[in-house]
Amino acid sequence: MSGMASRRQADLERLRALAAGSAGQLTVLDGSSPSRLRLRVRRPTAGSDRYPAETLPGFDLIIDLPTRYPFEPPTARLEGARVFHPNVFESGVVCVGSKWQAGEGLDLYVMRVVRLLLFDGMLVNLQSVAHGAAGHWYARARRAHPQAFPTATIDWQVATDRVIRACPSCQAKLRLPTGRHGTVDCPRCGAAFEVGT
Ligand SMILES: [Zn+2]
Repeated sequence: MSGMASRRQADLERLRALAAGSAGQLTVLDGSSPSRLRLRVRRPTAGSDRYPAETLPGFDLIIDLPTRYPFEPPTARLEGARVFHPNVFESGVVCVGSKWQAGEGLDLYVMRVVRLLLFDGMLVNLQSVAHGAAGHWYARARRAHPQAFPTATIDWQVATDRVIRACPSCQAKLRLPTGRHGTVDCPRCGAAFEVGT
C-alpha cells in the first residue's frame, strides 16, 4: 500500500472508532470508496429560520478526499436535508475554514464539521458567511434564544476511547487512544516501542 492509501485506511479506522463510541449519533453509511465517505448524524439542529420552534432531527454528510489528500484538505457537503447555517452554502457545501493540517486525522476533521453544524459557538464564523439569510437569522436567534445554541452536542469522550497496553520493558500500564499505530515512549522507563491499538 502507498503512504497515501495507508493514511486513508488509518483515517477510516479512526472514523469507525469514533462512530462506534457515539451511541448511534454518528454512523458511517458507506466507507467502501477510498475518496468518498457518507456519514449520518442523528442530532437535532436548525433546518430553517423557524428553529428553535422547529428542529431538523439530523443530516447526512459526504466527505470527499482529494487525490492529493492529506496534503490537500477534505471537503464536506450536506446530502439531502440542509442545515440552515451561516457557514453552509445553498449547494450544501460546508465552509469549514482554512485550518486543515496534513497531520490532522479525519476523525478530528469530522468532529469539527459536526460541531460546526450543531452551532458550536467556538466554530460558527460570522466573519466569513456563506449564506446571508442564515447569518442574519443566527445573529438574531442567538440573542433571543441563547440557551438553544449549540443545538446539540455529542459526547466525543465516549467515542475517542482508550485501551491499556503494557510497556514491554517495565510492564507499566499505558492508556492509549484506539485506532492508532506508531511508536510510543514509555513515560516511566523511557523505552520506545511499536504499538497498535
Ligand atoms: Zn516502560
